[in-house]
Amino acid sequence: MKCTYIKTNKEQCKANSIVDTQLCFRHSPEHITRAYAASQKGGTNRSPSISFQEEITLRTPKDIQMLISKTINGIWQGKVPIKVGSTIGFLTRCWLDAHEKAEFEKRIEELEKSLQNSV
Ligand SMILES: [Zn+2]
Repeated sequence: MKCTYIKTNKEQCKANSIVDTQLCFRHSPEHITRAYAASQKGGTNRSPSISFQEEITLRTPKDIQMLISKTINGIWQGKVPIKVGSTIGFLTRCWLDAHEKAEFEKRIEELEKSLQNSV
C-alpha cells in the first residue's frame, strides 16, 4: 500500500506505507519521533565521554605536553571530537608562544639586572 500523505505540492507520497499503517516511514508521526530520538541518541553518543569540566593546571611546557598527549589519545580512541582536538592544538600553541615570550622577558630582565650590578 502507498503512503497516504499529501505533500506540500499536493501530490501524494509515492513511498510504501509501513505494514498495517497508512503512512511511510518518513511521514508516520510515531516513526518521526523515533527517528528524532535515534538521532538525538546518536548525537549524545558522539559527544565526548571524557569530562571537560575537570579543571586542568598548565604551568610548564611539560603540562602542555601531557595535555596534547591526552588529546591525541582521546581523538585516536574516538573520545575527543576532532574539533575539540583542533582547538586544544591551537590554544596550546598560543600558550607555548606566550610562555616563551614570558621566559624571554624574564631572562632579559635578569641580564639587565646583572649588568647594572656589575657597573
Ligand atoms: Zn510518505
